Amino acid sequence: MQKIGFIGAGNMAEAIIKGLATTGRYEIRVTNRSNQVKLEKMREQYGVIPASFTETIKDSEIILLAVKPKDVNEVMSKISEVISDNQLFISVAAGIPLALLERHLPRNPLVRAMPNTSSAVMHSMTGLVKGQGVGEKDTKDAENIFGAVGRFVWVAEEQMNPLIAMSGSGPAYFYLFTEALVKAGVEMGVSLEVAEILAKETIIGAAKMLDTSDKSPSELRVAVTSPKGTTQEALNVFWENGLEELVARAAKACKARAEEME
Ligand code: NAD
Repeated sequence: MQKIGFIGAGNMAEAIIKGLATTGRYEIRVTNRSNQVKLEKMREQYGVIPASFTETIKDSEIILLAVKPKDVNEVMSKISEVISDNQLFISVAAGIPLALLERHLPRNPLVRAMPNTSSAVMHSMTGLVKGQGVGEKDTKDAENIFGAVGRFVWVAEEQMNPLIAMSGSGPAYFYLFTEALVKAGVEMGVSLEVAEILAKETIIGAAKMLDTSDKSPSELRVAVTSPKGTTQEALNVFWENGLEELVARAAKACKARAEEME
């Protein structure tokens, strides 16, 4: 059993813990600023060990920081007083660069991670960045953790903001598209209940096709688009109204905001 300690027991920590608990390979300690009730619930649900801040760090091989970005500076000072040099330190805090973590922990192997909310259903698309001192074992350890909640890619830190604009915020883009399709269905006279089923199952089915088929997204699109048919009419409206440009503008606005927040 590998010992891992979570600082912060919020939504992101819970999503990752849920995945790790299913592997049976981790002894998980969790500490939180307040809210003992949440920790007790997590003990019942996932078998974690609620622990003090100091115990969580001292009794773990790997430390995973999952507090809000605004709390990072204060927490890092406290962590640096307790942590040992060889402990792998992973931060999922959005917009917190490795340089800041390195300032507080100059002798620890560091990994910066950006999972997304689909970790809750084991389908996170996580970006990982190697910081100082990360060896082969640390690499494998980080891959095992994020592999337990979905897929991961290693990227250079400069790619983190583009990654946020794609996979970090991406789930919301597809939710918005689903909402829009539901509204369109209702406008065409479909009941809300049925429109929601139609839109949701369609996006789930398309996602499964993307996942399981060896065809590219373009090939899959072409396969459902008969020339001069119904789908073609709909796609023409998207193209004539600049859908691709709109998606690019949205992603770039997201990236710009991530840069501002650094
Ligand atoms: P959250 O507010 O749900 O959880 C943060 C937790 O940290 C809280 O439980 C709080 O009590 C705890 N905390 C704060 N200060 C502490 C301290 N000094 N000691 C111990 N615990 C402390 O937030 P969240 O949505 O889980 O986000 C956590 C981090 O994950 C953020 O930095 C965020 O940027 C990152 N992240 C979130 C998502 C997401 O989709 N939610 C995606 C990627 C990254």
